[in-house]
Amino acid sequence: MTNKGSRPIEFRSGLLGWYRARRRKLPWRGTKDPYKLWVSEIMLQQTTVQAVIPYYERWMTLFPDAASLARAPLRKVLKAWQGLGYYRRAQNLRVAAKIIVNNYGGRVPADFEEISKLPGVGPYTAAAVLSIAFDKPYPVVDANVRRLMMRVLAIRGEAVPKHDAAILEFLKPVISKRSPGAFNQALMEVGGRICKPRNPLCPRCPARPACSAYREGLQEVIPRPRKMARPKRIEAVVAVIERDGRFLIRKRPEPGLLGGLWEFPGGKRKPRESRVAALRRELREEVGAPTRDEKFLAKVRHAYTTFEVDLYAYRCRLEGEPDPSRGRLKWVTSKGLRYYPFPSGSAKIIRRIEEGNVA
Ligand code: SF4
Repeated sequence: MTNKGSRPIEFRSGLLGWYRARRRKLPWRGTKDPYKLWVSEIMLQQTTVQAVIPYYERWMTLFPDAASLARAPLRKVLKAWQGLGYYRRAQNLRVAAKIIVNNYGGRVPADFEEISKLPGVGPYTAAAVLSIAFDKPYPVVDANVRRLMMRVLAIRGEAVPKHDAAILEFLKPVISKRSPGAFNQALMEVGGRICKPRNPLCPRCPARPACSAYREGLQEVIPRPRKMARPKRIEAVVAVIERDGRFLIRKRPEPGLLGGLWEFPGGKRKPRESRVAALRRELREEVGAPTRDEKFLAKVRHAYTTFEVDLYAYRCRLEGEPDPSRGRLKWVTSKGLRYYPFPSGSAKIIRRIEEGNVA
C-alpha cells in the first residue's frame, strides 16, 4: 500500500467542496428514492451518463416504482432497455423488483447484506444506493474511482479489481460520515470528468493536494494502459419476410446472448458459404423452411462490446410454412414491430425499412 503521501482530511474536504460547487445536474441527483437511484446505477454500468439520461427519464414514466416494474411484462421492460445493451441488467432489475415487492413490502432494503441478495446488485451498487439514499458510509469503487484512487495512492499496474481492497481500505475511514452520498458521487464524478484515462485535468482537480501520482509526475503511467483485444468481426444474414402486411420475427432463446429479444430470423455465415446459402440454411434450421427469391435489402454494422456484426438483410419469401416447434415465431405488422425489443442491429434494419432507405 503506497498511501503514505496522501492526506485523508484534505482529500475529503476537497472532494465535498468541489461537489457542492461543480456537480452536474442529473435527473437522479437530488432524489433519495432508493428505487430511482438503484435503476440509475444499474443503467450507468457500462454506459455513459449522456446515453443513460433519456432512458432513465422514459423508464421512470413507465415504471415509477418497484411495484410497477414487478408487474410489467418482460417484453415491455426489454423494449424500454432497447439500445442500452447488456440486457441481463434489465431482466435482473425486473426479477429484483418482484423480490422487493414480495419480500420487502415494495421498499428497497436499506441493509448491505439484504440489498446484495438482489440479482444484479454487487458491492458497488449496494454501496452507491445505501450511501446516497440512506446516508450509510459505504465507499464505492467503480472504474472511474479505481483509476483516480490508483493515482492518488500511486498504486501501479493495470486498472483491475484486484486493487479495490487496497482502495477500500483507504476510503473506509476517510468517507464522510455526514454526507457519504455526496462523497461517493464526488469521487465518481471527479474520476469521470477530471481524472480521465489520458490527459487528466490535474490543475482543476480537488484531489490534487492528496495525489501521489501528481506529486511524482506519474499520472500518465498509472494505471498502466490495458492491451485491448480487437473486437471479433462477425457476418450475419437475416430474412425480412413479409406476408399480408406482416413480418416474421423470432424470439431469441433464453438464457443466452440477447436472450428474450426478438429478431428477424437468420444467423452467422460460415466460411466460404455464400450469403444466400447461409440464409437458406439458417432459415431451414430456425424456421423449418428455406427462403427463396432473396433480394438484398440493406447492410448495417453494429458494434457490441466484444464483437462487431455486419448484418446483411434480404427481403425474401418462405418456401412453405414456419414450423412452430422451432421456437417462438410471430407475424407482426410494421406498426406492431415497435412494441417488440430488438437487438440494435435488427433495430437499425427496421429503421431503414421504415425510412424506405434500402437497396
Ligand atoms: Fe487524477 Fe491529476 Fe487529480 Fe491526481 S491530480 S487524482 S492524477 S486528476
